[in-house]
Amino acid sequence: MTGLTRLSAAEMATLLRDGEVSSVELTQAHLNRIEAVDGAVHAFLQTLPKVALAEAKAADAARAAGEDLPELAGVPIAVKDVLATKGLKTTCGSKILANWIPAYDATVVRKLREARLPVLGKTNMDEFAMGSSTEHSAYGPTHNPWDLERIPGGSGGGSAAAVAAFEAPLALGSDTGGSIRQPAAVTGTVGAKPTYGQVSRYGLVAMASSLDQVGPVARNVLDTALLHALIGGHDPKDMTSLNEPVPPVADAARQGLAGDVKGMRVGIVQELGGRGYQPGVEDRFHEALEVLRHLGAEIETVSCPSFRFALPAYYLIMPSEASSNLARFDAMRYGIRVEPDAGPVTVESVMGATREAGFGPEVKRRVILGTYALSAGYYDAYYGNALKVRTLIQRDFENAWEDVDVLVSPTSPTTAFKLGEKLDDPLAMYLADVATIPSNLAGIPGLSVPCGLAPDGLPVGFQILAPARADAFLYRVGGALEAVLEDQWGGPLLDRAPALPVATEGADQ
Ligand code: GLN
Repeated sequence: MTGLTRLSAAEMATLLRDGEVSSVELTQAHLNRIEAVDGAVHAFLQTLPKVALAEAKAADAARAAGEDLPELAGVPIAVKDVLATKGLKTTCGSKILANWIPAYDATVVRKLREARLPVLGKTNMDEFAMGSSTEHSAYGPTHNPWDLERIPGGSGGGSAAAVAAFEAPLALGSDTGGSIRQPAAVTGTVGAKPTYGQVSRYGLVAMASSLDQVGPVARNVLDTALLHALIGGHDPKDMTSLNEPVPPVADAARQGLAGDVKGMRVGIVQELGGRGYQPGVEDRFHEALEVLRHLGAEIETVSCPSFRFALPAYYLIMPSEASSNLARFDAMRYGIRVEPDAGPVTVESVMGATREAGFGPEVKRRVILGTYALSAGYYDAYYGNALKVRTLIQRDFENAWEDVDVLVSPTSPTTAFKLGEKLDDPLAMYLADVATIPSNLAGIPGLSVPCGLAPDGLPVGFQILAPARADAFLYRVGGALEAVLEDQWGGPLLDRAPALPVATEGADQ
């Protein structure tokens, strides 16, 4: 069967259920697609053809045996290399973990295996998920399928690019400050950061534990919801895991796709727009708002005054937590071990030489920033004050929820920038997450859905935020938007990505 890789995950699931395609065929089609285009995209750090085909075979056998399988069983998936995969190299995009083979699966990976989704490979990322462009990967950048000279966002640029390039219908990412949503926005894919605690962090290599969250990436809202539902739920191995069922996100997506958002109160965040936001991004964002208004949503503007301090607060809290989390990479327990060129070989000198050789410049910058912010004389002035700002941001959200059901903004202030453009300017790079960071600080869920192309021909993301545990709202609003916009566009936006013509897909050869 041709064109398999162009289908949505839900369509693949239907074909599998009806016996019209096997998981082995689907998996092989994606492996072929990866073979054909990943030389140009570099979404994967590692592909797992043998493992994936064996998993696909097992999925087909389970189906043939009449096992009761979850909806997505047999649909292949890509996994960000920040998630531990038992027996399979997990590098976090870092040299320091170049040789790390975890002895266990992350809970979300275990769930994929139990649900019988073949894992195609591990995707590229900024080292330890620090970045917005995937250029901080120790293994070379990923390229945006819309324009190979441009960044695919970060840190999860590999997962977003794999999905955008039809190398995988689904992918897992992690979002500490926007690393699922910003890459989704700039690649024309859909990505969600679930409510903090709704998806297990067990086996997710920690960046900033109070902000980190695993989430789904896909090409449409329903597929994203189906994956969200599959990976969510209580996990006794994660102390911060919520002990409650995942909200009905797939039902909400279907409700939205049917156009049902009448009466929903949608608040535009006044502070997430204007200066620094490209006019082309704002235009698409406002047109999307008109779509929601036409469907009967009530639109108003809401002010969240503390949001202007979100970025500085994040860049104190995140490095503080990261500097502490990354202390475990000490040359003794995980990864590579480097001895000093000269002088005695001591615990300290080996630790120093290993960290010097193993960590890239962005990771070092954050370890230094975080160590400074936590140091005795500066703790109150930096870390302490940042925590107070975090509380103010949470209060801004609480106040907003008294008037609206969801808040919306552009996901990213700009479309995909050129590779290299912001590499020497950390502050400019940090600003890519100005609209996504507040929700991480508050632990609330967020979704990015494509809302069209800017005049530069690149995709724009529409961000939806909801109260904690109200993840279903995201999918209802996102689904409604997607249904109308795809109608206007005459099909999915990604069908128009020019950099990788359909010709490379051929017959899924
Ligand atoms: N780009 C942000 C940062 O560099 C977000 C990273 C993330 O969400 N993992 O910290």
